[in-house]
Amino acid sequence: MPLETTANIWHNGKLIPWEKANIHVMSHVIHYGSSVFEGIRCYTQPEGASIFRLHEHMKRLINSAKIYRMPLPYDVEQLNSAVIEVVEANGVAPCYVRPIAFRGYGEIGVNPLKSPVEVYIANFPWGKYVPGDGGADVCISSWNRLAPNTMPSLAKAGANYMNSQLIRMEADINGYSEGIALDVNGYLSEGSGENLFIVRDGTLYTTPLANSVLNGITRDSILVLARQLGIPVVEQALPRELLYICDEAFFTGTAAEVTHLRSVDRIMVGDGKMGPITSALHKAFFDVVNGLAPDRYNWLTPVKVREAVVA
Ligand SMILES: *Cc1c(COP(=O)(O)O)cnc(C)c1O
Repeated sequence: MPLETTANIWHNGKLIPWEKANIHVMSHVIHYGSSVFEGIRCYTQPEGASIFRLHEHMKRLINSAKIYRMPLPYDVEQLNSAVIEVVEANGVAPCYVRPIAFRGYGEIGVNPLKSPVEVYIANFPWGKYVPGDGGADVCISSWNRLAPNTMPSLAKAGANYMNSQLIRMEADINGYSEGIALDVNGYLSEGSGENLFIVRDGTLYTTPLANSVLNGITRDSILVLARQLGIPVVEQALPRELLYICDEAFFTGTAAEVTHLRSVDRIMVGDGKMGPITSALHKAFFDVVNGLAPDRYNWLTPVKVREAVVA
């Protein structure tokens, strides 16, 4: 996605011009990947704009930082306010919000503890990303996901995305739109930046957090909506070949939202079309974010923006 700019970026408590949000090449993060981040969507509803599950995203940011002993000088409430401040100042929705915390310019050794922690929050316009109605053609990656006790999967860390990049590039070069990695034991984990769901005989399956996956907030939202719709849900280790013989499969993520899989390794998933359970969950999800269904779990934080383009 080409980057569209906005006027302001939030940095350590203040709004600064987009062009001024620069860092030194000798910053710790550039050399050792010491960053944690979030991706959040702001959606529009008939009566305005709202950020989806802001609180949960900022809590996860703080927890990602905690895993890496990176003390953030802000609590969840302050980070929530900061996101609202920058989104309202820039004034456009729908948009994507990218908070990032990292180890800045300080010492050049591996130990990050003496390098300052910098927090930035950017946002930029990002309309509906509707994947081809046909769904995604994906492959199983030859790269595994992070093994337990190597890199923590529950931290949404920039460095984890080196693994994601290998998965994504391999898929792309081989003509697939995304790759699904197996965990170190050969069970399904997730896409390069999306959680994975499978439907078989009316039951919804997803890989548990122990299988090297991120605790996706869209994943959690889909589990909540599935229970609301009375769809049986099972979190268990899933063998690769279940993808070839399931009825439906889809990815979830802030970027991917709910994207159905048409084929895996050129084997058609079901009849290739978006199946009934995926469709029901897709609708339930978009009805909430687009303000067409009641927000019964308080997932939406309203923001005041000048330009709100309603889907
Ligand atoms: C961000 C991310 C996801 C999706 O998480 P959401 O909270 O739904 O956006 C899934 N897997 C990985 C590896 C991610 O980094």
